[in-house]
Amino acid sequence: MRLMLGLIAVSALSAQQFDLVIANGRVVDPASGTDAVRNVAIRAGKIATISASPLRGANTVDARGLVVAPGFIDLHSHGQTPENYRLKARDGVTTALEMEAGVYPVSRWYADREGRALINYGATAGQIPARMAVMHDTGTLLPRDKAIGVATPEQQREVLQLIARGLDEGALGVGMGIAYTAGATRAEIYDVFRLAAQRKATIYVHMRSGGPVEPGAIDALQEVLADAAGSGASLHVVHITSMCLRETGLCLEMIGGARQRGLDVTTEAYPYTAGMTDISSAIFGEGWEQRQGGISYGDLQWAKTGERLTAESFARYRQQGGMIAIHSIPEEVVRTAVSNPLVMIASDGIMDEGKGHPRAAGTYARVLGRYVREQHALSLMDALRRMTVMPADRLGLKSKGRLAVGADADITVFDPDHITDRATFEKPAQYSEGIPYVVVNGVIVVKNGELQESVLPGRGVRR
Ligand SMILES: [Zn+2]
Repeated sequence: MRLMLGLIAVSALSAQQFDLVIANGRVVDPASGTDAVRNVAIRAGKIATISASPLRGANTVDARGLVVAPGFIDLHSHGQTPENYRLKARDGVTTALEMEAGVYPVSRWYADREGRALINYGATAGQIPARMAVMHDTGTLLPRDKAIGVATPEQQREVLQLIARGLDEGALGVGMGIAYTAGATRAEIYDVFRLAAQRKATIYVHMRSGGPVEPGAIDALQEVLADAAGSGASLHVVHITSMCLRETGLCLEMIGGARQRGLDVTTEAYPYTAGMTDISSAIFGEGWEQRQGGISYGDLQWAKTGERLTAESFARYRQQGGMIAIHSIPEEVVRTAVSNPLVMIASDGIMDEGKGHPRAAGTYARVLGRYVREQHALSLMDALRRMTVMPADRLGLKSKGRLAVGADADITVFDPDHITDRATFEKPAQYSEGIPYVVVNGVIVVKNGELQESVLPGRGVRR
C-alpha cells in the first residue's frame, strides 16, 4: 500500500512538470509582502506555483543570490518601438505604457504592435493626438501649431467623441497634456474629466503649467484636483518633480490631502535632475526661463548632439523642433519624490535611434542602485512596490504587478548588489546592468543579461 501511494505521488509530480522554474531566488513581492527564498513555477504564461520546496520544469533558471520580483510596469513610456522595448526589457520593465500623451486611433495603434513586441504595451486615448487630428496640427508626438490654439465648440465635441471611441477600443484611460494644448480653456478640460468620470477611466495628466511663477505648478495642480473633485474622475498627475520643482514637497502634500479627503489621486516621478520635451512646444514660449525655476540657455541640452544651448542655437532649434533636455530639477527634489510613499516610478522615456533622455534606458536600475542601495532613500520592498503593484492597481490590473498563482508570468530577476543604470545624457542608449533575467508572459526575453532577439511575447494591455 505504501509503495502504491509512492508511485501515485511520483506520477502526480511528473504531471506537474512546469514550462519554466525560477529556482532558489529571493522572492520580493510587495503585493503580498513576501520576502523569502522561493521557487516560482510558470505554465502557459502564468505563475502556476510558488513554493519553498524544489519544483521541476522543462527549463530552470537558477536565481540563487538574486531578487525575483514582479516585472516592472512603466506608466509613462512614450517610446513604443522595438528599440525602446529592448531598452525597457534590459531595465527590468515587462509592461511599457503610453499614458500621458496617449494615442489616436487606439485600435490601429494596438494592431500595429500585435505579435511584434518584446514586452507588453498599452496606451490611453489621448486628448493631445485627438485634438491634433481634429484641428489638423502638423506635429508628431506633440502639437506644433493648430492644436496649441483655441478649439471651436464643434471641434471640442469631435475631440470628446474620438476619446470616447478610444475607450471603446480598449484604451487604458485618458491621456492629457494641458501645457501642450495651451488654448484649451478650463471648461474644455473639465469636459474631458466629465467624460472620463462617466466612463470610469483614469485621467493621466501633464498639468497646465509648472514651476514657481504663476501660472505655475500650484495653481495647475489646483485645477486638476478641482476637476477631479467636481467630476468624480480618477486622476494621475505625471512627472511631479519636473512640474513642481522646488515646490514638489508642497504638491505632494496637496495630493496626499486630497487623497485623505477621498479623492482618487496618484502621481509619479523619474529619478533624474532633468526633464525633456520638444523645443518647438508651447513650454518654450516667452518667459520659459522663470517658469522653469530660473534657468537659462546653458541649462538646455540638444538631445541629438548633447550640446548646451545659447540664445542663438535656441532660436535656431526652436524653429526646427526636436528633443531637448531641461536641467531644472534639484537633486534633493528627486530624493524627496522618490522617497515619498505616494510616488510611483515612471520613466517618461523615449529613445530615437540612440538619441534621447537616459530615463528611457535607466530609470528602474537607477532607483534600485542609486536610491535604494547607495543612498538608502527607500527600502527595496518600497521601491519595488512603486514599480509593480502600485501601477497595476492604478490600472485596475489584478493579473499584473504581483507574484501570485494565476498572475501573468512577467518577472524580473536582478542582483540587488550590482544593479546599475549606465545611460547618461551624453550616451543615453546604454543598457542597465545587473538584471540577468526578464520573463514576459512566461517567455525569457533577457537571459544571462542578454536580449533574446528571436522572441516577441509582448501583448497588448487593454481595459
Ligand atoms: Zn509630460
